[in-house]
Amino acid sequence: MILQDRVAIVTGGARGIGYAICRAFGSAGARLALCDNRAGAAEDAATALRELGYDAEGYTIDVRDSMAVDGMVTAVLDRHGRVDVLVNNAGLAILEPSEGVSDEHWQLQIDVMLSGPFYCARAVAPAMIRQGGGAIVTISSIGGLGGWPQRAAYNAAKAGVINLTETLGTEWARHGIRVNAVAPGVTITDLGKEQQTTSDPTARARPASMATYERRHPLGRRATADEIAQAVLFLASDRASYITATTLRVDGGWAAWANPR
Ligand code: NAD
Repeated sequence: MILQDRVAIVTGGARGIGYAICRAFGSAGARLALCDNRAGAAEDAATALRELGYDAEGYTIDVRDSMAVDGMVTAVLDRHGRVDVLVNNAGLAILEPSEGVSDEHWQLQIDVMLSGPFYCARAVAPAMIRQGGGAIVTISSIGGLGGWPQRAAYNAAKAGVINLTETLGTEWARHGIRVNAVAPGVTITDLGKEQQTTSDPTARARPASMATYERRHPLGRRATADEIAQAVLFLASDRASYITATTLRVDGGWAAWANPR
């Protein structure tokens, strides 16, 4: 119960890695506030989490909307009086050749995965400063660690949050707020499936097959969402009390492999 009674906000918590984080946090004793932008998805996930015996509340908001983010944090503070953990997880990936990326696709990915994490961190910081501490964990990606064709906006946002983590981590350390990131390798979720089944084949690149992805990881397989969630749980807990302003790769060795087979 390493998060016993800690109040945790998880963005994009209705499915995939975010939902796995909610389950891991719930089983560790956290009180959960999860948000998602898909209508009803956060509430449905919160209901499922309550059925598992966890304290969970769902909020339908878009992390691109800073006023909605502020409103959610106010609601969480009204309900619990504190916020101990923020996980910036909401994301989406649009794979397409960079020369064809529309302003809309560029902006969407930057707004969801770079501006959103900043809005959420900014919104929880005053409460964490008043409380004397807290933990923020942002989901980056192996895409944020180096070049990877046809993911210009996605990778720029994921690289951006690595620096955001370092900047906020060094800035807020004096308040006891630890700020870290996790960079997952390719993980088995709907995000990967949706890349495979785009309705716009002319605009979007055909992604590599899952077998290719699996071979590219030294461990020879993709991650499960639960494996990513365990790393996030560790960083969110006091077990990581001397870890801040860093990015933990949970990538089966992907980024370390200089000469992939
Ligand atoms: P997913 O598509 O299964 O889940 C993402 C969730 O975020 C969805 O429920 C979606 O509705 C929500 N969301 C999207 N835009 C939002 C917005 N504007 N506001 C609020 N919620 C929003 O994807 P996933 O694979 O679980 O990805 C979770 C995170 O992990 C993302 O940040 C993703 O970039 C990152 N990641 C995923 C992989 C992978 O291979 N799946 C690898 C590295 C990093």
